[in-house]
Amino acid sequence: SIIATDFIANTTCPYCGVGCGVSVNKKDNQITVKGNADHPANLGRLCVKGSSLHETLVNDNRLVTPKIHGEEVSWDQALTFTSDKFKKIINKHGSDAVAFYVSGQLLTEDYYVANKLMKGFLGSANIDTNSRLCMSSAVVAHKRAFGNDVVPGCYEDFEEAEVIVFVGSNAAYAHPIIFQRIVKAQKQKGTKIVVIDPRRTATCEVADLHLPIASGSDAYFFNGLLAYLYQNDYIDEVFIQNHCDGFDDAISAAMVETANIEDVALACKVNAKDIQTAFEWFAQNPKVVTIFSQGINQSATGTDKGNAIINCHLATGKIGKPGATPFSITGQPNAMGGREVGGLANQLAAHMDFANQSDVQYVSDFWQAQNMASKQGLKAIDMFNAVNDGKIKAIWIMATNPVVSMPNADFVKQALQKCELVVVSDCMSNTDTAKLADVLLPASTWSEKQGTVTNSERRISLQKGFIEPPGQAKHDWEIMCDFAKKMGFGEAFDYKDSHEIFVEHAKLSGINSSKNNAFDISNLETISKEEYLNFKPIQWPVTKQLPNGQKRMFCDGKFFTDNGKAKMIAIKPASPIHHLKKDQLILNTGRIRDQWHTMTRTGSVNRLHSHTPEPFVQIHPSDAQRLNIQDQQIIQLDNNSARFLAKAAIDEEQQMSMIFAPIHWSDAFASAARVDSLVPAIVDQLSGQPQFKSTAVTVSPF
Ligand code: SF4
Repeated sequence: SIIATDFIANTTCPYCGVGCGVSVNKKDNQITVKGNADHPANLGRLCVKGSSLHETLVNDNRLVTPKIHGEEVSWDQALTFTSDKFKKIINKHGSDAVAFYVSGQLLTEDYYVANKLMKGFLGSANIDTNSRLCMSSAVVAHKRAFGNDVVPGCYEDFEEAEVIVFVGSNAAYAHPIIFQRIVKAQKQKGTKIVVIDPRRTATCEVADLHLPIASGSDAYFFNGLLAYLYQNDYIDEVFIQNHCDGFDDAISAAMVETANIEDVALACKVNAKDIQTAFEWFAQNPKVVTIFSQGINQSATGTDKGNAIINCHLATGKIGKPGATPFSITGQPNAMGGREVGGLANQLAAHMDFANQSDVQYVSDFWQAQNMASKQGLKAIDMFNAVNDGKIKAIWIMATNPVVSMPNADFVKQALQKCELVVVSDCMSNTDTAKLADVLLPASTWSEKQGTVTNSERRISLQKGFIEPPGQAKHDWEIMCDFAKKMGFGEAFDYKDSHEIFVEHAKLSGINSSKNNAFDISNLETISKEEYLNFKPIQWPVTKQLPNGQKRMFCDGKFFTDNGKAKMIAIKPASPIHHLKKDQLILNTGRIRDQWHTMTRTGSVNRLHSHTPEPFVQIHPSDAQRLNIQDQQIIQLDNNSARFLAKAAIDEEQQMSMIFAPIHWSDAFASAARVDSLVPAIVDQLSGQPQFKSTAVTVSPF
């Protein structure tokens, strides 16, 4: 039910990590949305997904009543059943027999409560998030280089830069407003744009230089760049001397295989002249921003690739200055907020770490935890393996659809079918994961729930609620608090509203002040309810010394390591190796322009289907001819005992031996449409992030 009176509500978009401000206007029974001109992330612009948000407000598939085994029940029955099962399982098998799998769609306050409940009271760190699939390699790369998980730059750097390098990022589709800001700057001041991507994507349309490197060869390119910078005297020796460790080792490693541009060209399979041009642009311009995203992160060597990029910025001092920074852009609206509260199984709250026992004690004391976890929990892939092995006997999945989005998606489905208790809290009733739930709990969604999110430039904003949740739907934090009370932890979860949770979260971050920890928003712990409801977007850290937040990090050359110096990492590059049979090609997966994740929200808007109405497989004409495939013919991809069906889209821009398919469709929309069922669960050993971009699949006409 939409509130009766007319209103204007300033909120944020729930889709990508750009984190655009949205103004919602209700007038004469009509709701419209437009970009919030006062929000620094988007300055009034919205992409097609954001500008159709009002069309998602009515959805026939909303989940509005709690259910146990498909039967409608009261909240009391649903949570009594769930808590009784959790208690029995924990008593019999220990705390590590239960798990939460959560989401970058959760608001920070929801995330905070989920972490506190699992890590402080249920006694396990088995809480991981779908951000594991999206960001975790960048997190480890940041921690290795900077001592803490910090994105150094801000969106203004895109306009300040003289050269923008996109690597593994189709920002034109995946982060459209960042892309639009850069294109505008290019028109105004001639910013040079380099796109490094095996595919010729929509982002390449504005590129001054597109380097279609071999899939996964990114670390060869950036090691080659580091060697070039060194051999041609482009190193900032003063910056290295004062602010970096590890320079000699990183250079030695870069000189092993990529000392010559010809070697780099060979490894990356692009011509040496173009590589030389890209290297010169990076070297000769002081203001360079390197934007990296899933093409880097979703790899078995994603962390090393991230560090190979950061090495080049450190070696030239191109960091902490206007227009000069490495920049990881996050996929989800609140992937960053999840990292702040410890949403990954290997983290504690407020960027603290299980590796440090005093951190565990700090958090435990602060929460007055009844059963504090003392070691890290299982990351996403290991978590579902443990479900399959029967070691995890109860899993609670919040606001995400792993039966579609996880690699080895059929295995995940089978694991959940075997699990003793599957609880799913979601706003939709018909997701592929919801269908496997023993207990289904109706959750509020965008427009109904209220809390903070953090975007890719560390900016915290309020996602505002302006509609009552339908039926019996509740906010995620409320559901967890009610459950916690049933479990006997009532006092610690007695929050009146999301404002109270935010204040506690801000207060907890303050206990880091004396430590090498970047995430500190303790100056917000006195925020009043009114200020919270009119939250002014702000970039962390927010401390007594920095009450207005901080645009850029590392401006003073001080990092969050013990000696204050950044660490360059010696990288040994490695590309994925495939021995293809004659009917096999390499599958790359990714987003299309107008859909979001598994389409549970965007899939309900007709006009969002018009740009790309159905799943497709992009294939080069010679591969199509060789495999007897006609344009628009339905073809079959096989791997991993799974099958994916879609129409062939023959396209000369597609690299030979490689195909591309979108990630969005699921069994809720079409049959054999879950492309991630083809992807094996190969992960980066440092981050646990799966490799989604390079899978050998058999391709044939259907
Ligand atoms: Fe902005 Fe991303 Fe939403 Fe588009 S999808 S409006 S770019 S936050």
